[in-house]
Amino acid sequence: MEGYFGDFGGSFVPPIIKENLDKLYEVFKEEKDNREFKAQLEQLLKDYSGRPTPLYLAENLSKEKGAKIYLKREDLNHIGAHKINNTLGQALLAQKMGKKKLVAETGAGMHGVAVATVAAKFNMECIIFQGALDVERQDDNARRMKALGAKIVPVHEGEQTLKEAVDAAIGYWVENANDTFYMLGSAVGPHPYPEIVRYFQSVIGNEAKKQIISKEGRLPDKVVACIGGGSNAIGIFSAFIEDESVKLVGVEAAGEGLHTNRHAATLTKGRPGVLHGMKTFVIQDDNDEISPVYSIAAGLDYPGIGPEISHLFSKERLTAAYCDDKDAVDALFYLSKKEGIIPAIESAHAISWVLKNDFKKDEIVIINLSGRGDKDLARIL
Ligand SMILES: *Cc1c(COP(=O)(O)O)cnc(C)c1O
Repeated sequence: MEGYFGDFGGSFVPPIIKENLDKLYEVFKEEKDNREFKAQLEQLLKDYSGRPTPLYLAENLSKEKGAKIYLKREDLNHIGAHKINNTLGQALLAQKMGKKKLVAETGAGMHGVAVATVAAKFNMECIIFQGALDVERQDDNARRMKALGAKIVPVHEGEQTLKEAVDAAIGYWVENANDTFYMLGSAVGPHPYPEIVRYFQSVIGNEAKKQIISKEGRLPDKVVACIGGGSNAIGIFSAFIEDESVKLVGVEAAGEGLHTNRHAATLTKGRPGVLHGMKTFVIQDDNDEISPVYSIAAGLDYPGIGPEISHLFSKERLTAAYCDDKDAVDALFYLSKKEGIIPAIESAHAISWVLKNDFKKDEIVIINLSGRGDKDLARIL
């Protein structure tokens, strides 16, 4: 069924939103096969963001693990993370639709920075809704968004964090849909967003597949990525889903531990439900109320997960793993000292999984290094 990945996905939204989503899907379907659109996107990814990103053989780490460990260097993108792949693509769509404003919500500010960046580049107005508490906590990203010319609207409702910011941003979009484009930051939400975000992030996997075949002459044995909403994961996994020999591992945030209720391990601890317009795995209590979640990594701190990831997990194509805060911090410093690369605390969850597991000699493993970790050091130290 359109908009579904097996049992997951769909579009659980009021009719007024559905109408806007249908329009967006029409434009997306048309543009993604349009030669001019594809050429524009390719050029932006290359000249603006610096793609292709390298596939780097981490030699010191490989020696330690007795296997070949490669890092897909999404940290080397402009703005230091994979999020720019998606916002560049969606900005092009917004432009094709004649929109003048970009609206989005942000939690810790990383998606907000990615949206503010492309708004500046495409000469569009940018309105970012952020929970008032988050605005205070994340003044560094708030400063970046301001420097880029975005307008930040603090949301004072409820808990004053991401959930209320989502509601406020969608509310604004519905009232201003004629000239406003709503940008979603991960492969989540109602159809068609999971499909659109997957499409724009699939550049990661397409590049990695070509690169590993040119370096090793064969497919990898394992591909490992951290999962928040699942956009960097589905981005790299997408190229390998049909290759049954390649094991796909998604690493979730176990926060302070799975035995506490301060974690964000959606596949491991959640069950199917409806959240943000999609049917997917959700961390919820016995009354189907969304539970509060927690991770040291702001990008992984989400009670849901992309519907395609839920589908791959439920049909056992993807293995779910988890890593707690402490192990993620250890992995961050380990990679920094071992390879001279400071990973984002989100990406460090995937690295930790590799550190904790044993591999056969000559096994080939690719870790998606979703972002750089400079942003995390002050807080962690
Ligand atoms: C936002 C973010 C993530 C988590 O988002 P996904 O949609 O799950 O990829 C992971 N790593 C970094 C560096 C991020 O900025």
